[in-house]
Amino acid sequence: MLPGDGIGQEISCEAEKIFQWLEDNTELNFQIDKCSVGGKSIDEYNEPITTKVLSLAFESDAILLGAVGGPKWESLPFHKRPERGLLKIRKELDLFANFRPATVFNSLKNSSSLKENLISDLNLMIIRELTGGIYFGEPRGIEKLPNGEKKGFNTLVYTTDQIRRIAIIAFEVAMKRSKKLCSVDKANVLESTELWREILVETSVDFPQVKLSHMYVDNASMQLVRYPKQFDVIVTTNMFGDILSDCASMLTGSLGMLPSASLGEYDEITKNRRAMYEPVHGSAPDIAGKNIANPLAMIQSLGMMLEYSFNKVNLNNLLKKTISKILDLGFRTADIANESDKVLSTSDMGEAILDELKNSKNEKI
Ligand code: NAD
Repeated sequence: MLPGDGIGQEISCEAEKIFQWLEDNTELNFQIDKCSVGGKSIDEYNEPITTKVLSLAFESDAILLGAVGGPKWESLPFHKRPERGLLKIRKELDLFANFRPATVFNSLKNSSSLKENLISDLNLMIIRELTGGIYFGEPRGIEKLPNGEKKGFNTLVYTTDQIRRIAIIAFEVAMKRSKKLCSVDKANVLESTELWREILVETSVDFPQVKLSHMYVDNASMQLVRYPKQFDVIVTTNMFGDILSDCASMLTGSLGMLPSASLGEYDEITKNRRAMYEPVHGSAPDIAGKNIANPLAMIQSLGMMLEYSFNKVNLNNLLKKTISKILDLGFRTADIANESDKVLSTSDMGEAILDELKNSKNEKI
């Protein structure tokens, strides 16, 4: 567990309560190493992540991260900043598949900027390739030209291996859901994504039950706000996924509600895929230390961990159901509250979830 900075610390405390409940009420047992990352690690060890923490991350079945960063460390050189700790984990553990669900809880459907009928019951999953593509391709840089002008350039590159491994993950996820997968590319103008499409089609042969479709990214962005419920699982490249997942996440109305998972290759040591789970939001320095942050993105990230790393789909469903119930009862943290709602602190929201979980004790878990 890497709580990190700002509200990362506060929301991690609420996740710990859920871990405790799981230990007491299910057959799961956790050995949790709580370590510093980001600004906290800089303060303690003068680096955003230590080798010791990185090797613990390697040995763990899963990592749950809060958030990193804050104004205190913003003037540090680039390689010393808190965010480098996070990027280092992603890179060293080769967490190439980023999962961002966009789920609309029934009682929050008014929070979206889209009309209620377009987003009610929305439940889509965007899978973004996270360690390749234009963000990492070489050559890259800014060069001076002989005429005194400058040239900035990046390279959009994908190899068949990189595409195949994310394609397999996406098909596997589609198999567990509605067996519908939409691959988003720009194959009409970019050769690297022409290859992307080719490999997606090739991989689909191994998943005959999944209905694969393709969409150009410009159309996909339009379709996401026109009629998002047409999608179930979307798989796409690093940059397209970056943009589309932010767009999709706001369909749900609130940053404080959005979890994510980043998965890597199957690991022989842990006999599982390497994995890190974290809320989509950052360390929210403006509200840090006030006990008012929304812990639900963190708790849902824990839920994703239960499903993807520990194969406990039922427990993730139970957490989602519990959150939904609490929201239906009108309990809200300040970020998602309307006038008539009961506004809870971070810790009270954690307790409310816990109480509701205790009520579900008699259900089969
Ligand atoms: P942010 O996500 O931290 O905050 C944006 C806005 O949303 C703020 O007004 C904040 O109060 C609110 N917010 C965010 N999470 C919330 C929650 N759980 N409950 C209630 N309100 C919430 O983004 P930012 O302000 O652009 O960045 C702040 C710091 O976080 C920066 O240092 C940035 O680099 C870092 N950051 C880290 C991550 C990460 O660790 N994965 C992601 C994004 C930003």
